[in-house]
Amino acid sequence: MNIILLGPPGAGKGTQADRLVSERGMVQLSTGDMLRAAVKAGTPVGLKAKAVMDAGELVSDEIVSALIGDKLTEMGPDKGAIFDGYPRTAAQAESLDAILEAHGRRLDHVVELAVDEDALVERITGRFTCAVCGAGYHDKFKLPKVEGTCDVCGSHDFKRRPDDNEETVRTRMAEYRAKTAPILPIYEARGLVSRVDGMAPIGEVGAAIDAILDG
Ligand code: ADP
Ligand code: ADP
Ligand code: ZN
Repeated sequence: MNIILLGPPGAGKGTQADRLVSERGMVQLSTGDMLRAAVKAGTPVGLKAKAVMDAGELVSDEIVSALIGDKLTEMGPDKGAIFDGYPRTAAQAESLDAILEAHGRRLDHVVELAVDEDALVERITGRFTCAVCGAGYHDKFKLPKVEGTCDVCGSHDFKRRPDDNEETVRTRMAEYRAKTAPILPIYEARGLVSRVDGMAPIGEVGAAIDAILDG
């Protein structure tokens, strides 16, 4: 099964992808994670992407589509793919069609996580992750069970993204509205889109997604 999780920054894509990975053995393909890894490693792609990401703007379609193609090749044909944060433009949606076809895959679902814009700022400014295993948390909505200790790996080291500040979030939401939301009709026309209320608690959002994938 191949699915796209589509929604604005902070909608819960990464949170839900993590769960699908651990419960269903699917593979998460997050262009944001791939780009952050490239920045950290100081690769040519990372050097190009850093300033764009810090500003909350979109990295070029060529760069992100190449990352996705490479990752699909690397993961092989056996596991399902969760596209998280990709595609984000009409050109990327077109590239994804070609990439999937080249890999003998087809798209099963586009899950739209619908969330109020005001709530997104609170979600993003409260977001943090485990510096060791990457597990995601929130200051108010998803604290570790034991304060200061990662539920998954026991680490005491956490980090926040430099672009998770209110000013950049506004730019990212504007980019979503202008460039990403317009790709929904492409998938709606193919009957692939299911809309989920992303304002519900994390567990309920997960149950709604399960119902779509199992329906
Ligand atoms: P995205 O990958 O779409 O940017 P995340 O999954 O990282 O979003 O979620 C953003 C923040 O909001 C995280 O801190 C996460 O713990 C929290 N979060 C995710 N889903 C929900 C939800 N349904 N209700 C409340 N907080 C949530
Ligand atoms: P979020 O989880 O908040 O939705 P991401 O981690 O997906 O954010 O993306 C972080 C940044 O990386 C984006 O603001 C953008 O600069 C860049 N980026 C990630 N995915 C893409 C993409 N598909 N196309 C262009 N830029 C991207
Ligand atoms: Zn951890």
